[in-house]
Amino acid sequence: MTWKTLDDMDFAGKRALVRVDINVPVENGVVTDTSRIERIAATVDDIQAKGGKVILMAHFGRPKGQVVPEMSLEIIAPAVSDVLGLPVTFVNGDYAEAVAEMDEGDVLLLENLRFNPGEEKNDEGFAKRLASLADIYVNDAFSAAHRAHASTEAIARLLPACAGRLMAEELGALEKALGSPERPVVAVVGGAKVSTKLDLLGNLVGKVDHLVIGGGMANTFLAAQGINVGKSLCEHDLADTARDILTKAEAAGCEIILPRDIVIAREFKANAQNETVAATQCPDDAMIFDAGPETVAYINDVVDGAKTLIMNGPLGVFELEPFHAGTFAILNEIADQTKAGKLVSVGGGGDTVAAINASGHGDDFTYISTAGGAFLEWMEGKELPGVAALG
Ligand code: AMP
Repeated sequence: MTWKTLDDMDFAGKRALVRVDINVPVENGVVTDTSRIERIAATVDDIQAKGGKVILMAHFGRPKGQVVPEMSLEIIAPAVSDVLGLPVTFVNGDYAEAVAEMDEGDVLLLENLRFNPGEEKNDEGFAKRLASLADIYVNDAFSAAHRAHASTEAIARLLPACAGRLMAEELGALEKALGSPERPVVAVVGGAKVSTKLDLLGNLVGKVDHLVIGGGMANTFLAAQGINVGKSLCEHDLADTARDILTKAEAAGCEIILPRDIVIAREFKANAQNETVAATQCPDDAMIFDAGPETVAYINDVVDGAKTLIMNGPLGVFELEPFHAGTFAILNEIADQTKAGKLVSVGGGGDTVAAINASGHGDDFTYISTAGGAFLEWMEGKELPGVAALG
């Protein structure tokens, strides 16, 4: 699919209503991590450089259609101003009047969209009120694009609409990884449970050449093949589903890669006494916490032969040493191949970003998505309403 970008619009003398994600962590009224705000700077700067006026709109927390003072964007406004290096005026009164008084170069920040019940209902009336404030709509909040809300969906049908820089960058990276990727494509899916990633696995088996299944969810697949997984995390009730995925993969010519050897322990704690055994040899009283070196070597060979890689979820309990070893070993290989220009690598999801950063490879992937739910839904092959509305 295609979408317009800032380059397709004429912002000179125009008011741009820009949907951003500045849902940042706040402790005692102070923003503790400004990374999300930093990422909107490119779009704000660009619109201003083109002579446009910027009106920012965003959500903060989950006020559920009510005014909750602790979730006012007034709290975030000073940090937005600091990070952008521009005066940012917060408005919660008469928006139309504040917009009418804007000079070129001014930035307005509207009150939390979710204070209005119309936002999450994708209400046409609320969208019209927002649209009346501006000439152009810009969506720079990929992380909110999986929701059909007034500020992400309805409004895009009321004004000339385009993707901001961050949104365009994210969509470009994702398109390169799964839309029209260079083959072979390998997907690494790990994490705790199969149940949260069923749609994801179902979509991937039809699209990728190799699918590595790791973490707790690999146990469900091993058990579904009659292999004892001892006391490991395992969704035994999903055995049929796991077998269906294996059958679907075979029909699609997708190689499923499961652990061949496993690192086991008897206590869920850092530095628990552990050993490596064949995947078929998990004792009744043990738990599987990581993939073993033979599995890692095989995965790394597949990574070396791949042109595109997409990753969601760790291979093991990477938060507890030494059970991070499998995840970190493949992250090292992915980083090396990416830096050598041989691999396009995209990773996303909360725990995946944490694992990548903990391994020291935060800058070594082609693209790391911090969009959480939207990234997952995109990997599941679902149409994102906020993206579709820009098409
Ligand atoms: P997710 O949020 O679904 O990506 O799951 C990530 C979590 O899965 C991390 O907190 C890991 O510690 C956990 N995990 C990975 N492998 C295992 C395993 N073999 N047993 C239990 N938990 C695991």
